Amino acid sequence: MSTVDPTISALSVWLALESPTHHAPGVNGMMDLVAKEVEGLPIAVERLPGRDGLGDSLILRAGPNNGELAVAVMSHLDTVHPVGTSAKDLPVRVEGDKLYGPGACDMKGGAWLALQAFKEVAIAGSAKRPMVFLFTPDEEIGSPTTRGVIEEIGRKSAAVLVTEPARDGGRIVTARKGVGRFDVKLEGRPAHSGTRHADGRSAIREAAHQILAIEGMTDYARGITTSVALVGGGTAANVIPQHAWFSVDCRVTSLADGVMMENRIIGLTPRDPDVVIKVTGGMNRPPYEKSTAVAGLFETARGIAAGIGFDLQDVPMTGGGSDGNFTAALGIPTLDGLGIDGGGAHTLAEFGLVSSIAPRRALIKGLLETI
Ligand SMILES: [Zn+2]
Repeated sequence: MSTVDPTISALSVWLALESPTHHAPGVNGMMDLVAKEVEGLPIAVERLPGRDGLGDSLILRAGPNNGELAVAVMSHLDTVHPVGTSAKDLPVRVEGDKLYGPGACDMKGGAWLALQAFKEVAIAGSAKRPMVFLFTPDEEIGSPTTRGVIEEIGRKSAAVLVTEPARDGGRIVTARKGVGRFDVKLEGRPAHSGTRHADGRSAIREAAHQILAIEGMTDYARGITTSVALVGGGTAANVIPQHAWFSVDCRVTSLADGVMMENRIIGLTPRDPDVVIKVTGGMNRPPYEKSTAVAGLFETARGIAAGIGFDLQDVPMTGGGSDGNFTAALGIPTLDGLGIDGGGAHTLAEFGLVSSIAPRRALIKGLLETI
């Protein structure tokens, strides 16, 4: 006979409720779970209706109403895993110290443990500043409907704590690359590939040239990467393709490089003058650089962690973007990667380490009480 750890059973409920970004009922179900969890506590709940077919956002407020800037926590409750993943490929289960399930690592584990810390501090009344907790529905697609509220809460905060997964054995994140997304559409001229080959202008052929040019802009030494990972076009094997399209992912370490790369990609010119290229998109998340203020906040967190009994480290600038990019770019001290330690994010082997929950929950509690 084994007894089930209450932490694992509570978090397992969150993992079992599947909430891919484009499945608003699932995301809203997650918002319901959070709202239910704070019912009857000294925490005010504000729900913002979803837009563009996406789920709602939820804002929790607690702590003293003393006119000070707030301390904000930010978590997203959408995942990348389609509905049905937990029934088939990634069942919610515990194996040793690993809790598997959709979003276990990115980032329901972190959202859950931060909520527990937030509740503790709200109940104890031990915060020095107003506390705000924002739950968002669309981080995994670049936060198209929530950037405004993220920045609005950020501007009213002395610090922002983001509960994306920890890195490399519990390290947190103090700098992230900027992220750009572009869609490239090409239009050539269709023709029968047998009888009228010379009349055709292949959009796919042009796309092939452009893809190689874009991939060639990668400069590891400078921290710039480009990647074409979605591509399509054509209508049939015997038709010179009129249309082709592909997407571009671009990462940079500085604002200046973001502007430079945006100009290069938007300014793509066709090799074949009879093919038209249209580029949309741009830099979506500005870089999050480790400023003096971020470094100071990290030292505060390090001190709290030492008191709890672990040595907190950060990682060098990471390639993955998050909502922390938005607040850090506004100059608001931001710590990220405060969520659960684990692995396999965005894969069918996604897990969170159960043993990381208690210390990281204590770290967030300490930050909420100290900042
Ligand atoms: Zn995430």
